[in-house]
Amino acid sequence: MDQESDSKSEWSNDFSMKRALLVSFLQVFIPISVLFCGIFYIFSNQTQKYELQTIKIREESALKSASALTSTLFKQKLSDLLVLAEGEIMRQYLHNDNIQTWTQVTREFSLLARRKPKYVQIRLMDTDGKEIVRVNNKNDGPNIVPKSQLQDKSDRYYFKEAITFSQGDIYISPLDLNMEQGVVEEPIVPTIRFATPVYDGYGTKRGILIINYTPAELLDKIEDTFNTLAGDTIMLNSNGYWLMGVDDKKLWGFMYGSEETFSSEQPEVWKAIEKNINGSVTTDTGLYIFQRAYPLNRAGLGSVENIQLRSDADQPHRQDLYWIYVSHISKELLDDLSSIPIYISTIIYLLQFIAIGLISGVFAKKAVKKKFASIKLQQHATTDELTGLSNRRELHKTAEMEFKRAYRFNRDYSILMIDLDNFKEINDSYGHSMGDEVLKHNANICLNSTRTEDLLARYGGEEFVMLLPETNIEGARQLAERICQDVREQPFDSGRGPIAITVSIGVSEIDPDDISYSNILERADGALYQAKREGRNRVATM
Ligand code: GH3
Ligand code: MG
Ligand code: MG
Repeated sequence: MDQESDSKSEWSNDFSMKRALLVSFLQVFIPISVLFCGIFYIFSNQTQKYELQTIKIREESALKSASALTSTLFKQKLSDLLVLAEGEIMRQYLHNDNIQTWTQVTREFSLLARRKPKYVQIRLMDTDGKEIVRVNNKNDGPNIVPKSQLQDKSDRYYFKEAITFSQGDIYISPLDLNMEQGVVEEPIVPTIRFATPVYDGYGTKRGILIINYTPAELLDKIEDTFNTLAGDTIMLNSNGYWLMGVDDKKLWGFMYGSEETFSSEQPEVWKAIEKNINGSVTTDTGLYIFQRAYPLNRAGLGSVENIQLRSDADQPHRQDLYWIYVSHISKELLDDLSSIPIYISTIIYLLQFIAIGLISGVFAKKAVKKKFASIKLQQHATTDELTGLSNRRELHKTAEMEFKRAYRFNRDYSILMIDLDNFKEINDSYGHSMGDEVLKHNANICLNSTRTEDLLARYGGEEFVMLLPETNIEGARQLAERICQDVREQPFDSGRGPIAITVSIGVSEIDPDDISYSNILERADGALYQAKREGRNRVATM
């Protein structure tokens, strides 16, 4: 119990131990912390990379499925168009244009329009681009437009293109908005036009048949798919104009002569889009994942015969027939989605530090305890516990070593033997522990007179031995006199008044006949005995 509290106070009091503890703690704590933080950092980085990859794949596959929606879209429309263009009713009308055959054509158009509400217009135009039959198909059903209200469409790009086509060719327009009387119809009607030339029985081209189709359901479906994506998703045409997914003001810009495009807003992303069918680009505004959608996938049209999809590049508004879906995940969202939340990583770091701190503490304590124990053991072996001077064993070792050196090189070597006078009386008068303090006091006075090469040791009880290498007997005697005087002049302050002390000192030096230091020591002891006999508090030599 006592020992435990003793060692505890040792722990807290000893400054050098505290320092050793700190050093030892840091030696474990720092490298392990660096290691673990490094591991965690790499781990969270990997996690982020993995999450990023997952997000990318998820977005890509969602975009791909949106693009698949369109691939078989037009097959039905194309065959409807050809059946009308090549059917008997059309042939009769072209052969003999009168009110009866005209009515038959309008009736056939109306019939189809009733079945296909997304066919918003079905028209026949002559070779000059003038409408000759027109059925509008709004919410209230098919509506035959009277001849007086038919329009001249000769300057519309779809007419100009389709009229150049040959029998069986189908012209498909890009997705744009329907126009009436030269202006965009409001509310807007997104429109794709399918057109094919019509021929009479003599094989003469007589005009074009054209169906306006509004892919509203498709666009709704695409929008639904977009809503399931993590990013903000937009639909672009092949010129970089927005068709879906941005503010209404920005949509369909090419219909209103706007120059504002995605391609001019994000040239870096656009560059990649122009080169690849799908892919992803990271810019300082985040991650862009894109996918082209080809509504006119030939594979989807396979069973319709004689279809030639033609496109004329010399028309400035003309677009290649694909759309682009782009999902944009902002930097902030990306970080949110892909990285371990900051509070979790903070907790993990903190827990790591605490755990490593505790472990390091235990290690450090053990290591320092062990180290200090071994230092103590060593000290124990070589020093006297009471005075801190060398003990008898250490004295023996050093004295013998010095003897051999002095003997071999024929050097001076003296030894003092110091004994407190009447020490028993001090013990008797002031108690044993006060006697201990007096011993320490005396040791300090003697210590003050030593040079670095000298050694002062406690020989036993109240006897001290001083080894004086390179010192002859005269020098040694003078030193002894001084010590004798110093002790005499510095009584011990007991707290209850000064305690006067004196010492007697025997001095001897190496002799050529000596075979060991103990020969010198024996003579010093003899000299001491003589000093005692002569009245104490004095020096004798032998
Ligand atoms: P002298 O002048 O002839 O040397 O007389 P003295 O009393 O000093 O000599 P003596 O050898 O008769 O007594 C030595 C005493 O020193 C006996 C012993 O009780 C005491 N002593 C020895 N070691 C210690 C110690 O470690 N502490 C204390 N307090 N006393 C000790
Ligand atoms: Mg004595
Ligand atoms: Mg003695």
